Amino acid sequence: MEGRGSREIVSVNPADTRDVVATFQGASAEDARNALAAAQSAFPGWRATPGPERGRILARFAAIARSRKEELGRLMTREQGKILPEALGELEKGLNLVEWFSGEGMRLMGITAPSELPNNLLYTIRQPIGVASVITPWNFPWAIPCWKLAPALVAGNAVVFKPASLVPAMAAKIAEMFAEAGMPPGVFNLVMGAGSEIGDILVEDERVKVVSFTGSNEIGQRVHTICGRRGVKVTCEMGGKNPAIVWEDADLDLALAGVLKGAFGSTGQRCTATSRLLLHEDIADKFLGKLVAAAKAFKIGDGLAPGTDMGPAVDEGQLKTDLEYIESAKKEGAKLLCGGRRLEGGAYAHGYFVEPTVFDGVTPKMRLFQEEVFGPVLATARFKTFDEMLRLANDCRFGLTCAIYTQDLTLALKFTESVEAGMVHVNSPTIGGEAQVPFGGVKGSGVGEREMSKEGLHFFTELKTVFLDYTGKRRDSSIY
Ligand code: NAD
Repeated sequence: MEGRGSREIVSVNPADTRDVVATFQGASAEDARNALAAAQSAFPGWRATPGPERGRILARFAAIARSRKEELGRLMTREQGKILPEALGELEKGLNLVEWFSGEGMRLMGITAPSELPNNLLYTIRQPIGVASVITPWNFPWAIPCWKLAPALVAGNAVVFKPASLVPAMAAKIAEMFAEAGMPPGVFNLVMGAGSEIGDILVEDERVKVVSFTGSNEIGQRVHTICGRRGVKVTCEMGGKNPAIVWEDADLDLALAGVLKGAFGSTGQRCTATSRLLLHEDIADKFLGKLVAAAKAFKIGDGLAPGTDMGPAVDEGQLKTDLEYIESAKKEGAKLLCGGRRLEGGAYAHGYFVEPTVFDGVTPKMRLFQEEVFGPVLATARFKTFDEMLRLANDCRFGLTCAIYTQDLTLALKFTESVEAGMVHVNSPTIGGEAQVPFGGVKGSGVGEREMSKEGLHFFTELKTVFLDYTGKRRDSSIY
């Protein structure tokens, strides 16, 4: 149903803003409340639907999306800007997640445990929670909704989904494919609109029993506070400032490929982007020489054009943020090695293009070392010893992911144990996640249960413990 809010949501191609991808009428506060009412009415029926059947609907959704992968990938590139191979990669990742979670409908298992008492059975069951609000950012308009919606739905919750307003067309496709897959009416509800207008309703309304949020720290902390006050379950995945470490013995070409992908892939607009580069001083100059040469050779442009290495920033606001951080780093004394400018004129005239940018000499006191830019801007610092490197890696309020490039297994293991991060990559880029393993961060990067894997599924369930006594006799054990 069309929204009845006052605002239109217009999705434009960030590579060429003359290309209007889609226009929707945004939801009003009343639309958001109606969506919650629809979810609440649909919940009992969905909860009573057997888990394997719920899983089969998800599997049909995945099959439909798989058959339209190319079309969806092209739409994602037009709407969000990432290059087509990245959009197709994101589609595959989301599909893996939905396929994995669809099987979990058959594995919503508890445990059985021996009791202290004879003829007593102890076991647990997992049950859905109720109405779930799923609130997502614009940078992964398919994979993030998939990794939240699939576990929420397969566990038996009814969902109200609020995507970021920059990516409404992808969200509309998700709704369309759920309907086509046979999702019963009211179980999945899409509301599009400004977070400032309908966000609070989707967190504060008493019908909402669980909230899964991914986005900025500012909004995440607000969501977390409201949920804390209400006493409802919440997970907030937020920003990152992820370091890649290149040790003196590293395979420099491998490290180079990983750093380029981590820092400039998706135009740096990833929570898992490599945004700090920590170099052992013995290889720093050599590595930076290779990195700068490769960054300068990047082909920047429309993500649909074959051979493009990096697309545009998602909108004017993000482009301005990128340029502001570049200016502030220069003022604070960091050394600009390459990039740093907006690309204008010709093929860039109607888009939000910025060069891949590398700074050297960045210190922990500088904003560029501490704050998330969410753009293709890399901050480099150098170290001599392991302890110095670890201090640099941990001297940041974020703790999402990190990478270390070294041939020394002992050093890598020492690092994985001591670094303050939710995920560690050894000899691979900071980016990525797989359905089977938990995804998420520590410190300012995340609060609440991890996503993906069993943890991501369990978040959307309540655990009930059953004490089944089949003695038929009064208990006189002192432990009860
Ligand atoms: P954002 O916080 O501005 O918006 C995220 C979502 O929250 C959007 O749907 C927005 O409309 C909604 N929202 C806004 N105000 C709200 C309110 N008062 N109540 C409820 N919802 C509200 O973030 P963004 O700009 O869309 O995304 C970029 C951020 O997301 C970056 O900080 C990035 O690091 C983070 N991110 C984190 C992960 C992760 O897994 N850790 C993954 C991707 C992105």
